[in-house]
Amino acid sequence: MENSFDLIIIGGGPGGYVCAIRASQLGLKTAVVEKRPVMGGTCVNVGCIPSKALLDSSEHFFRALHGFADHGITADSVKIDVRKMMERKTRIVKELTDGLKYLMDKNKITVFQGSGRIEKAAPGSVTVKINELSTAITGKYCVIATGSEIIDIPNVKIDGKKIITSDHAIALEKIPEHLAIIGAGVIGLELGSVWRRLGSKITVIEILPDILMGLDRQMRELARRILEKQGMSFLFEQRVTGAQADKSRVNIQLEKKDGSKDILDADCLLVAVGRRPYTEGLGLPEAGIKLNARGRIEVDRHSLETSVPGIFAIGDVIEGPMLAHRAEDEGVMIAERIAGKAGHINYDTIPFIVYTWPEIAWVGRSEEQLTEAGIAYNTGKFLFRPNGRAKAMNEADGQVKIIADKKTDRILGACIVGPNASELIAECVLAMEFGASAEDLARTVHAHPTLSETVKEAALAVDRRSIHS
Ligand code: NAD
Repeated sequence: MENSFDLIIIGGGPGGYVCAIRASQLGLKTAVVEKRPVMGGTCVNVGCIPSKALLDSSEHFFRALHGFADHGITADSVKIDVRKMMERKTRIVKELTDGLKYLMDKNKITVFQGSGRIEKAAPGSVTVKINELSTAITGKYCVIATGSEIIDIPNVKIDGKKIITSDHAIALEKIPEHLAIIGAGVIGLELGSVWRRLGSKITVIEILPDILMGLDRQMRELARRILEKQGMSFLFEQRVTGAQADKSRVNIQLEKKDGSKDILDADCLLVAVGRRPYTEGLGLPEAGIKLNARGRIEVDRHSLETSVPGIFAIGDVIEGPMLAHRAEDEGVMIAERIAGKAGHINYDTIPFIVYTWPEIAWVGRSEEQLTEAGIAYNTGKFLFRPNGRAKAMNEADGQVKIIADKKTDRILGACIVGPNASELIAECVLAMEFGASAEDLARTVHAHPTLSETVKEAALAVDRRSIHS
């Protein structure tokens, strides 16, 4: 097998495989070293994709139970076959990983299965040892795209059955009666939604005072109220100090902000307190690659080059939001720069999405962030309730908020809690990418009747002239 390349990428997740495809398109001889037997990383195998498959299945089930009657549809004995639901999820993952294999072959990218370790790093020549194959390959450049791994917490021992992580929560064999979740972040809310819709009682324990603390305050309060209405309960400003599982139950010890203690009993506990960069075994210190105090690889902000020339890092292993789409765009940028082109990524327009229902999506800055930065702004808001399409869909919950610079009217942020927010936010991202004003968005013709009219109405509302409110 060939062992000399222009570019070696360690990690075949969305950051790594997209970087590889772009590099190959630009004529670079490219290799990917991937530990898993298939490509796709956390996102495709145990993250974004399987969770979205389950979110979709559980949403269908919930609608059949609670939404059909209003449409005049009788569905008398609606049941969920968890095994079949999981089989569907597994099939979707397999189709995507097969698709990635096809893309690697099509683009003539060499994939080495095994864990890569940087052995030698000199300008213009990086040697990566592939442990399982006891072989070494060399590249002119190297990109570290090894992603992240789940964080656990002290005194809460993951056993994969009663005390679980997201890896297990996407593969449960039966519906837990009471699922307790540590962490009201993205994973807690998404997987909590899956199992809530299937009938579990959900209690989310969160150390901070609210869900999704990075989100605009008013919009996160709105999202939380909707989730509470759906039956999710939250214990805020509480910390889990320990948990013990026996065959059937989990006993969870809580400590409140004032120091008082409490006990929660559940039949399953999901730990969703974040992820840490995965840098183990890569030979980073030996190669002279520096980590910051938070264990993330230090890179130059613009070039994403590490402290060792010719070695770059992208995605979850460096500072910034742990999002597949960000890693993908960083991968494209690096490949283009290595190929001598002007690769670029705009960190101000990265969308964030939480796939609950309604969905929660945002881009740019929140009101709180702008206030803190001393930037004057106007906001325009529009509810989904008066929107004709939302009404036809029985989707009354949610709101769009556009935040624009007070002086220039340039859009500084947008947030949507509502049906299909994950798709609707793309328009706001594009508007911001082109430096649009709220007026630009408001004067753009939006098809009627569509949910996207709520975005136009919110933009109109920045100038206090929305039509339907
Ligand atoms: P997160 O950072 O989104 O949320 C973790 C939450 O746990 C935070 O609210 C935090 O305050 C809380 N927490 C931490 N320690 C705690 C403790 N001891 N007790 C109680 N609460 C505690 O992390 P996550 O939900 O685990 O997701 C991991 C990463 O994966 C995130 O970076 C996320 O962006 C990414 N992800 C993204 C998506 C998406 O984009 N839709 C989906 C899943 C995961």
